[in-house]
Amino acid sequence: MQEIRIERTTAPKAKPADQSKLGFGNYYTDHMFLMNYDKGEGWHDARIVPYGNISLDPAAMCLHYGQEVFEGLKAYRADDGGILLFRPDRNMARMNLSNERLCIPEIDEEFAVEAIKQLVSIDEDWIPTAEGTSLYIRPFIFAVDPHVGVHPAHHLIFCIILSPVGAYYPEGLNPVKIYVEQNYVRAVKGGMGFAKTGGNYAASLKAQDEADAVGYTQVLWLDGVERKYIEEVGTMNVFFVIDGEVITPALQGSILGGVTRMSCIELLRSWGLTVTERKLSIEEVAKAADEGKLNEAFGSGTAAVISPIGELKWGDKKMIINNGEIGEISQKLYDNLTGIQWGKLPDTFGWTVKVK
Ligand SMILES: *Cc1c(COP(=O)(O)O)cnc(C)c1O
Repeated sequence: MQEIRIERTTAPKAKPADQSKLGFGNYYTDHMFLMNYDKGEGWHDARIVPYGNISLDPAAMCLHYGQEVFEGLKAYRADDGGILLFRPDRNMARMNLSNERLCIPEIDEEFAVEAIKQLVSIDEDWIPTAEGTSLYIRPFIFAVDPHVGVHPAHHLIFCIILSPVGAYYPEGLNPVKIYVEQNYVRAVKGGMGFAKTGGNYAASLKAQDEADAVGYTQVLWLDGVERKYIEEVGTMNVFFVIDGEVITPALQGSILGGVTRMSCIELLRSWGLTVTERKLSIEEVAKAADEGKLNEAFGSGTAAVISPIGELKWGDKKMIINNGEIGEISQKLYDNLTGIQWGKLPDTFGWTVKVK
């Protein structure tokens, strides 16, 4: 394994004083991880250096053609002072899946987890301790060849930055209102939907902006071909409980395979519940709502963990789910996942990785 050179900052920043006002993505720690790729040399020069600006040629390819991938996970401070990561191997495996799709050279997954651990250790004083807070970890890779011709890059940078983030639900688990998007699509099979890459987010901004303007938190994406089958909700995977059956759209190429999604499925099955990964149309959901069989709906993702859906608006139709309250399954998943992540519940699945 490569050595990671370490250069510590001589000018540590003041940490945010009020942990109840961290929000998401507002603060960054004192250090960052960097590593370069140059064709012929491979990934090299792994280093942890003071957090700061990165200088790029204006022709750097990532700025023009979006050849970049990213990941998102968290470090949690346990009550005993330990630091835990949640399934970081899954994030790094997914990063290589994204890399493959975007012609980005493969990274060594184990080494990348080691880099995360070392960086988190160095900035461990930045991990907030208030209930529900954590340190968000953002690994990303981008193409830097100074070249405005379109081709897969020969020079790239792998960077990891850290951001202390607040509790997602400072006032408790709050159901959100979701707008079923019928105009825009996020991704199609054969495109990049399964990869975690900025382009998918660029494609989603307009719909998100319009939903926001009419009072909805997120959009529910339908498939890009028939505009019929449910894919994801905003930047989360989505689950519906219909007549006792837990249903989530199958991963078929246009949906991002969430680590939280995977963990929800494993937990639900361990509780003896039926979880089906299949095609689910918006008509089927509407019909279930009409018949009183739509028990619960929720999104899943690293940032919010579980985001209960209280209302779905599809054209002129409004579906109120579980009286706009949190469902039993949503609450149980949230409690168990966060319990394991913060080390408050036994980790029977072997999901957590100790940084220290
Ligand atoms: C990251 C992401 C998710 C959730 O993945 P997790 O690994 O659970 O955080 C879902 N959908 C999209 C589009 C994403 O980018």
